[in-house]
Amino acid sequence: MRVLIFHTGGTLMMRGGDPSPLVPDVFTRDILAELPVLARVAEIESRILFALDSSDMQPEHWVTIAEAVYGALCETRADGGRRFDGIVIVHGTDTMAYTASALSFLLGGIDRPVILTGAQRPLGEVRTDARANLVDACFLATQAIPEVAIAFSSKLYRGNRAVKLDAWSMDAFGSPTCPPLADLGVTLETGDHILAAQTPLPFDRRIEPRVLGIRVFPGLDPAIVAGALDTGIQGLLLVAFGSGNVPQRERSLIPIIAEATARDIPVVVVSQCVRGGVDLRRYEGGVSALSAGAISGGAMTPEAAVTKLMVALGRGSGQPKVALAREAFANIWAGEDDAM
Ligand code: ASP
Repeated sequence: MRVLIFHTGGTLMMRGGDPSPLVPDVFTRDILAELPVLARVAEIESRILFALDSSDMQPEHWVTIAEAVYGALCETRADGGRRFDGIVIVHGTDTMAYTASALSFLLGGIDRPVILTGAQRPLGEVRTDARANLVDACFLATQAIPEVAIAFSSKLYRGNRAVKLDAWSMDAFGSPTCPPLADLGVTLETGDHILAAQTPLPFDRRIEPRVLGIRVFPGLDPAIVAGALDTGIQGLLLVAFGSGNVPQRERSLIPIIAEATARDIPVVVVSQCVRGGVDLRRYEGGVSALSAGAISGGAMTPEAAVTKLMVALGRGSGQPKVALAREAFANIWAGEDDAM
């Protein structure tokens, strides 16, 4: 089996720490020299894309990663066979769920695993989660799991359902609305909800980053949100209360939703709750939002919703945006929501 590792940065390959801050390391470190056991998992090749703290990752970086992954999936050997059986992406944990979500939408259906991983402590440290996570990610990249997924702390999560839940624990990720795709205990247990393999479509690099996400809170001044509509935003994500409610009496957000929709700026609503998702028909606040034009993001994570909105708007540039977003959020692209 052959696995290609793309490096993008993150703590796994950082140096420093206590008392100086952790910073991205030089480009020249050889992961196989540091973790020779990887050669027993698969034939490993590695390529460096960036050395970034993932808090500096931008939509343009997602496109570069996705394009590199797509290119690698298309590479063939001299005998015509596929060059790689799976891809691993080493990435910082802070925005890993965003990158994983964006990759799942940019790549669409895939036929092999694309596994992101990282660590809470650098590979060079004695007590680190980096070794286990890297070994697990490379192993999972050799399995029949044709999804963009996150391997962390002995679990594999669907990338566009995953969230970073813990800033300090080695067990940093979860996917509260979707069971893990795989559990790496004494044996490998895989879920029966793993998506079927699909031949990737031609790569489309278009993305629209001018999207604003706002976490609704009591006291949020609608005038501030109204002002944002004049800044050139092309889409708005409201991370609303509970099952999708927003204030509709004092400091009502309903006129803003109506105004945005009238100006062809789609407003997508997801929940602040990590479980359950949005049902805009359950309470008056949701019903009012719906009547004003809000689009339900269902049980999608904010990470998945914002990246899907960016990809949908990018692909439909020049077309009416509210209709585009409605269509995008009425359809599941890569397992990002439960069947509707
Ligand atoms: N700040 C780091 C990053 O996201 C954290 C990590 O990798 O765990 O790049």
